[in-house]
Amino acid sequence: MRKILFITLFIMFTGLAGCSGDNQANGDAEGGEGSLDIVTTYSVVYDIVKNVAGEHADVQNLAPIGSDPHQYDPLPEDVQVVTDADAVFYNGLNLEAGNSWFEKMIQTAGKDGEDAPVFPISEGVEPKLLQSGGHKGEEDPHAWLDVQNGITYAKNARDALIKIDPDHKEAYQENAAAYIDKLEELDEKIKQKVAEVPEDKRYLITSEGAFKYFSAAYGFEAAYIWEINDENEGTPDQIKSVVDLIDEKDVPALFVETSVDPRSMETVSDETGVPIAGEIFTDSLGKPGQEGDTYIKMLEWNADMIAEGLTN
Ligand SMILES: [Zn+2]
Repeated sequence: MRKILFITLFIMFTGLAGCSGDNQANGDAEGGEGSLDIVTTYSVVYDIVKNVAGEHADVQNLAPIGSDPHQYDPLPEDVQVVTDADAVFYNGLNLEAGNSWFEKMIQTAGKDGEDAPVFPISEGVEPKLLQSGGHKGEEDPHAWLDVQNGITYAKNARDALIKIDPDHKEAYQENAAAYIDKLEELDEKIKQKVAEVPEDKRYLITSEGAFKYFSAAYGFEAAYIWEINDENEGTPDQIKSVVDLIDEKDVPALFVETSVDPRSMETVSDETGVPIAGEIFTDSLGKPGQEGDTYIKMLEWNADMIAEGLTN
């Protein structure tokens, strides 16, 4: 009996250790007594929730930095972490729907009930819809690339945390207010930065069409090779149609996202002779200690890279 218990504990321990290792700086193993255990689906939501929760929660993230949260494959230990969590935050708007990984995981973890503490952090955002292919008419998930939506995310995180942990209501309100002030500053900063780009050069060409919300908020025309990450990424037809579009317009530069395979965009660059200006962040933060390692820093980086790439 004792032996079985020991083995079980050993498996649990190695499972947890493996998980924090895989998720790099996203794990938050220490943490005070009485802290909430919170799980987020990808690094952008992780950072926003962490800023609002402050010291009152241990936040664990699932889809690792640099990976694609549309089509993540949860590890067995992820399911355990979700089962044990006091709250789960996900983007919603179809982000985690690519291979239904989130829905399946929530079911397996027994958190699919109506009152389960599972919160779509984009609630209340006005959705923009996908316009092409098999996903036409579905909601586009990339709302966080407009900072005003990021502010909605922070408010939703605050309200959800207060709901599950009313004892720390004041702390969550204060943390959210301070963070939202920073986000308002960021929004202003991005507007000033992109104002440097001449209006006839405001084309934002990326691999995935992640910039609908950004473009509407900051005055760009966005185009892409494929509209949303799924099984069809960079087909010859998709490449041809973006190459034709670039040939028609005076596009100064192309961009590639840190969380996608750059080869399709390299092909587009070769065929059009338009250079790739650099990498920008869409579906993932940068690695801890490197560029773009917070939500605020990733958007600052993007604004700088976009302004520089399209101006020079
Ligand atoms: Zn995406």
